[in-house]
Amino acid sequence: MAESFNIAVFNGDGIGPEIMAPTVDILKKLATTNGNYGFEFCYAEAGARHYAETGEALPSVSLKMARDADAILLSAMGLPTVRYEDGTEISPQIDLRKELNLFAGVRPVRIVAGQNTPLKLAGGQSIDFVLIRESTEGLFYSQGKGVVTKDSASETMMITRETSEDLFKFAFSLARQRKELGHGKGEVTCVDKANVFRAFAFFRDIFDKEAVHHKDLKANHAYVDATALWMVTKPWDFDVLVTENMFGDILSDLGAGLMGGLGLAPSADIGKDNAVFQPCHGSAPDIAGQNIANPFAMILSAAMMLEWLGLKASNEAMVTDARRLRDAVDAVVIDGTKATRDLGGSSNTTQAGEAVLERL
Ligand code: NAD
Repeated sequence: MAESFNIAVFNGDGIGPEIMAPTVDILKKLATTNGNYGFEFCYAEAGARHYAETGEALPSVSLKMARDADAILLSAMGLPTVRYEDGTEISPQIDLRKELNLFAGVRPVRIVAGQNTPLKLAGGQSIDFVLIRESTEGLFYSQGKGVVTKDSASETMMITRETSEDLFKFAFSLARQRKELGHGKGEVTCVDKANVFRAFAFFRDIFDKEAVHHKDLKANHAYVDATALWMVTKPWDFDVLVTENMFGDILSDLGAGLMGGLGLAPSADIGKDNAVFQPCHGSAPDIAGQNIANPFAMILSAAMMLEWLGLKASNEAMVTDARRLRDAVDAVVIDGTKATRDLGGSSNTTQAGEAVLERL
């Protein structure tokens, strides 16, 4: 009998439910057609709207559903109008990362030939690298703990040896996996600011110690400011970049910009036992409720989930379907006639999802 996977689904806020619906539809149809795997979807409440209604941002029952699931699909959470008393926003997606220790934020930056990008690429040239953003500490460690007085404000960055070791092990293993799948040259670049901050010299030292165990791969260093420049001037040089939480937060939006916008940027937050798959963008309250949001980043995140589950369970059919799903989205994006407004087209969310299904 086909192996079945239990998926916790967070519909989230704003455009969240609109982009989740076609994504779950596609996953159901892929599994039914293939027959070598199946899914059970269970829906978990959380987010800003839920907080406004109940006073709880991430109920313990939802956290348990997430913890017990084989994988977690999350759209986007948060609304600028719903805030805690200290002025910060409700952000259960960040709470989940901390609760489930999802230290590796995986942000692929892929531009296939023919895709619209602000970069000037030679004809037929494509871009394929991955940014790994540490997702539980760094400057985000300070979230909710910053000290603000009348005259000053301070936040503390935390980098621990244990998380950094796990992060770098993950980065080298991803580079090896990409090389084996024919996606990368087998190189990991540690992105930091070790020229100025002791915390980053510490980070880099741990990276160097881990690199010694991966002689089959190349290890590199780069400063974050130069990395921002090179992501624009020679992004084809990168394979796997690994960095601190705040730097990764900023660089991943730059990566999304290179891909033609947030609507095409998927992500995964991966720990030792759990993983959340969600688009890089937020809940886009300015366009919510109109069925015009771009579902592709959500669908590409689901493709990452398929691949992650397939590799973990040694289920070849899922890995193949993940590639087919990515290829289908690429084809719709390049074709352009079924693109959503943010990509210069006029399709709505439902039509864009249907276009992916048609390609499949
Ligand atoms: P955003 O990503 O929601 O929106 C930025 C811009 O991109 C908006 O103009 C929006 O319309 C557009 N956009 C985003 N996703 C799109 C899509 N799929 N299709 C078409 N257009 C899209 O960022 P924001 O406005 O800064 O944040 C809105 C809310 O989302 C805030 O409450 C923020 O805290 C939250 N947020 C959540 C996450 C997350 O859940 N991971 C990430 C970022 C922001």
